[in-house]
Amino acid sequence: MCRTALVTGGTRGIGAGIARTLKSVGYRVAVSYQNGVETAEKFQKATEIPVFSWDVSDYGSCEKGVEEVHTVLGGDIDILINNAGVTKDCMFHKMTAEAWHVVISTNLNSIFNMCKMVVPAMRRKKYGRIVNISSVNGLRGQVGQTNYSAAKAGILGFTKALALESASKGITVNAVAPGYISTDMTDAIPSDIRESIRAGIPSGRFGTVDEVAAAVLYLIGDGAAFLTGTVLSVNGGQYM
Ligand code: NDP
Repeated sequence: MCRTALVTGGTRGIGAGIARTLKSVGYRVAVSYQNGVETAEKFQKATEIPVFSWDVSDYGSCEKGVEEVHTVLGGDIDILINNAGVTKDCMFHKMTAEAWHVVISTNLNSIFNMCKMVVPAMRRKKYGRIVNISSVNGLRGQVGQTNYSAAKAGILGFTKALALESASKGITVNAVAPGYISTDMTDAIPSDIRESIRAGIPSGRFGTVDEVAAAVLYLIGDGAAFLTGTVLSVNGGQYM
């Protein structure tokens, strides 16, 4: 059976890697993004994966966006990859309330919003796969990231609680915690800091989006039906 997967923030970076991998093995895939129209159009043209724009931090926007996905693809979303995220790094004593709220709502409230859109149908059909993208910095904390670390740690509690509620309904809910992966997000880190981060990674390099996608692919497969509420680290040995 051809399952339908939705990847949020799937037009570039890790999300794009996940979307391409899922499509390559036969899943029907849709991706969302927020503002990057040009990137989204290029992605759609290159992959023939349909793209949809909405703000995952806004509940009403998620309702409209998912409705549009249903209309275009037809049928329910069987697999949800909650990947969209942002950083607004700043030492806590200088952090504005805005930087806190944007990061919490984009990285954490979005998970609530998007799961609300798909879980009722998954429960009815007694099948579903949800993978939430957390971060190594949600597991261990990071300087300049009280907002991001809090959001990414919050995802882990959410994942475990929803996994408990959903296990008897054939729905698995897991998290992937990437370490440092080469994307626009990490390209924005000043090069001297990037180099000191790289030096602290036992594998001696940043990871690739395909390496994160491989973990997601495993978690959504039939072979992982008994695996729920877990956190899979993809971090080159940086934190364990
Ligand atoms: P990128 O910055 O490369 O891409 C982010 C994607 O999310 C884009 O498609 C962007 O859309 C979308 N997005 C951002 N905000 C919203 C929003 N409010 N509504 C809808 N879409 C939104 O990020 P990465 O690929 O690096 O990261 C992907 C995920 O992995 C994030 O959750 C991140 O926190 C996490 N992660 C990343 C790591 C890394 O090293 N890169 C490490 C650990 C975790 P648009 O193009 O329109 O802006």
